[in-house]
Amino acid sequence: MHDYHKAKDMLDYAVEKAGELGKNKVTKVFITVGDASGYSADTIVMFFKEVSEGTICEDAEVVVTQVKSMLECPKCKEVFPRKLMEYNCPVCGTEGLPSKIGTEVTVEGIEAE
Ligand SMILES: [Zn+2]
Repeated sequence: MHDYHKAKDMLDYAVEKAGELGKNKVTKVFITVGDASGYSADTIVMFFKEVSEGTICEDAEVVVTQVKSMLECPKCKEVFPRKLMEYNCPVCGTEGLPSKIGTEVTVEGIEAE
């Protein structure tokens, strides 16, 4: 159910943004969804279509950028992609820790007319 609320938040943001720009029809919404965010991009897009009905975002295209989960080395601060069963830093071999990259779910911007 949290995907639904996220979609609603994104809709509110897009509507507000369009208002700031003095636009009354949103044609595209650009969103970023991290692999480690716990959200499904497909589900968010589906709910977005549902909650945007009757708003200025109705029929807007949702453009998703999927962000791969990244680990950060606690020793040398190298940020590297997380691979299956492999968590060690490619530079110094220290075990990486989860970084913030890959946990985001945000609206990057909108296109409106
Ligand atoms: Zn390292």
